[in-house]
Amino acid sequence: MIIAVDGPTASGKGTIAKALAEHYGLPFLDTGLLYRAVGYQVMQNGGDPDNAVDALKACDFPESILGDHALRSETVGGLASRVSVHPEVRAALNKRQVDFAHQPGGALLDGRDIGTVIAPDADVKLFVTAPAAVRAERRHGEMVARGVDVSFEAILADIHARDERDSGRAAAPLKPADDALLLDTGDLTIGGAVQAAIALVERKLREG
Ligand code: C5P
Repeated sequence: MIIAVDGPTASGKGTIAKALAEHYGLPFLDTGLLYRAVGYQVMQNGGDPDNAVDALKACDFPESILGDHALRSETVGGLASRVSVHPEVRAALNKRQVDFAHQPGGALLDGRDIGTVIAPDADVKLFVTAPAAVRAERRHGEMVARGVDVSFEAILADIHARDERDSGRAAAPLKPADDALLLDTGDLTIGGAVQAAIALVERKLREG
């Protein structure tokens, strides 16, 4: 079984994806991490994330950086969003994701274009959203808890910028697949969102 989980930043899709992968015993790939690795590598190379040649060169990142905690930062998230605009970068990362999705026994992938580009044949496609203000509040809370001094307004502006870049790009824009099941986590707790996601998957498996 292939499960595709897509959605914007801070929608809760990562948490939901991990919980679903565990629940159904599926291998899990956080595809955002690949784009983050490219963004981070561009920075290490002293390259320009908006330049397609520099960004493509960074797709040769060493495997070891996928485990680097630095990839989780907001700065690297922003760089990932910029390098992911280039079709050359998306093409370079495509095979790895397609192969992962189609391994024997299936898999669960989370990202932006899993249901539309990487695995349009997925058995279940979830599109996880929440209003931008709610997502900004969550992200702000996480950062303050980590001791980062940042304003809610700055986070909200960053979320709007990322949404616009991810949804407005020509190559594989962020949008729900026609047959995706929508899950708005705006009013849900983490536990509630995971329960709702499992209920959607179960219904899809039952009813097709
Ligand atoms: O999900 P995450 O925040 O780690 O993703 C970082 C960035 O990578 C996103 O803002 C998006 O621009 C890009 N991305 C993408 N396609 C994916 C996963 C992530 O374009 N499948």
